[in-house]
Amino acid sequence: MPHELLTALGQSLISGNLTDAELLSQTSHNRVIPILPEANVLKIGGQSFIDRGRAAVFPLIEEIAANLGTHKMMIGTGAGTRARHAYSVGIDLGMPTGVLSVLGTFVSMQNARMLHYLLAKHGIPFIEPVQFPQLPLYLEERGAVIFFGMPPYTFWQQNPSVGRIPPHRTDTGVFLLSEVFGAKSMIYIKDEDGLYTADPKKDRNARFIPKISVPELREMDLQDVVVERAVLDFMENAETRRSIQVINGLVPGNLTRALNGEHVGTIITAD
Ligand code: ADP
Ligand code: MG
Repeated sequence: MPHELLTALGQSLISGNLTDAELLSQTSHNRVIPILPEANVLKIGGQSFIDRGRAAVFPLIEEIAANLGTHKMMIGTGAGTRARHAYSVGIDLGMPTGVLSVLGTFVSMQNARMLHYLLAKHGIPFIEPVQFPQLPLYLEERGAVIFFGMPPYTFWQQNPSVGRIPPHRTDTGVFLLSEVFGAKSMIYIKDEDGLYTADPKKDRNARFIPKISVPELREMDLQDVVVERAVLDFMENAETRRSIQVINGLVPGNLTRALNGEHVGTIITAD
């Protein structure tokens, strides 16, 4: 192709080096388009929610069904206790992080399958990443889809800086989808009101934090947090998903309020 037909960026990219920081900075001069701006991405916790069984899950399923037609929802699932058991056996048998990631993926798929059957009568499809090109159609026609939250890195999962548990799990997988599709929201449905100064299950004096930025959170240097730390890392470079909300899904009405754009839990912002 004659070079004069290329944009200035096109010419720079063809002649330059893709490790050149100055050149790379030119690639974000326009805004990315929001691909699914009406979609709300929800994550239903594994350990914190689905593992509690029907007492937690049935009312939430009802609430999701009640919001069909009003809000479009992409519903991702966590893995939870069974994944932690699989990780422990895998580690005992000498499995590397990439293989542990494969195991965790299947557990989060088990949870997605079960929730899918509970939502089946509402016509909600379960989709795997290979079916994501049909997402716009499903959202338009049915208003929701259910998928497994693990990012499909499997063997390509990076090693963590400490230990062997895959650092990018379901909180991270759903976050990245909300980011890439320029979705309307990212709502984490768990079993606590949001982020506290410490794990409220272990520390009676833990204080609730209604709103905080990632830099402020780093400054606090908390021992434990309510979402995977990788989510906070990714938020810093996010183009569209600059805030997330963590809500207590055990409280009826919280999900509906969050879908309506209300502040019901903890909002974490990139800046
Ligand atoms: P999921 O089921 O979505 O994977 P997790 O169980 O991994 O959720 O994380 C949610 C849990 O994190 C909460 O149930 C809570 O006990 C724990 N937790 C740890 N630290 C905090 C904190 N600082 N604030 C709130 N919850 C915390
Ligand atoms: Mg978790």
